[in-house]
Amino acid sequence: MQCPKCRKVTLLEGSLTDKLAVQYCQECKGTWIPAREYEAWQARQTHNRVVSQVPSTTLNVDFVQSPFDTKAALCPECQRYLARAKVNLKTPFYVERCPQCRGIWCDKGEWSILEQLGLHTTIEQLFTNEWQTKVRERQNWEKERKATVEKLGHELAAEVFALAELLASHPNGDFGVAYLVRRVSTNVPPNNASNSSHSW
Ligand SMILES: [Zn+2]
Ligand SMILES: [Zn+2]
Repeated sequence: MQCPKCRKVTLLEGSLTDKLAVQYCQECKGTWIPAREYEAWQARQTHNRVVSQVPSTTLNVDFVQSPFDTKAALCPECQRYLARAKVNLKTPFYVERCPQCRGIWCDKGEWSILEQLGLHTTIEQLFTNEWQTKVRERQNWEKERKATVEKLGHELAAEVFALAELLASHPNGDFGVAYLVRRVSTNVPPNNASNSSHSW
């Protein structure tokens, strides 16, 4: 089997976490994980087959993207183009997977990051629409938080975030939100705010 990135280099037998049998490339240090091996390995993992959380884009993991990551590649087993799924970290990268045989390609370092994130046991979920939607939602949410900090400053933003958590977990939280919106948009001060100690 040839390396999908280096083309003319033959993959060698190797193994990953907990005896997952793979084929690796000595040149680019990428790893091909055949679907049959991965699925058998998944079945052996007794812990967390639960759906993982979308990682924070601000997560600062020590990772250098492989220069081969951006290179399109063909499946070494069935020659189909590998599908790509973005993993959104401060340094984003792509995991690749064959749509036909479900084999997985990890460029150098990607498996160990997936492992750190707890995503290595359910790589197939990264390729679902639900997951990619969750990634986009998470990205938008983080952008909004960042903008809030920039506009309000750290101190007030922290209070807003804390209040938002309280309201989100309260059964009548929407009343609090409505009050805030009205108060801020109409700018009518409540009665108790008018008794300022102004001495004439
Ligand atoms: Zn290679
Ligand atoms: Zn394939």
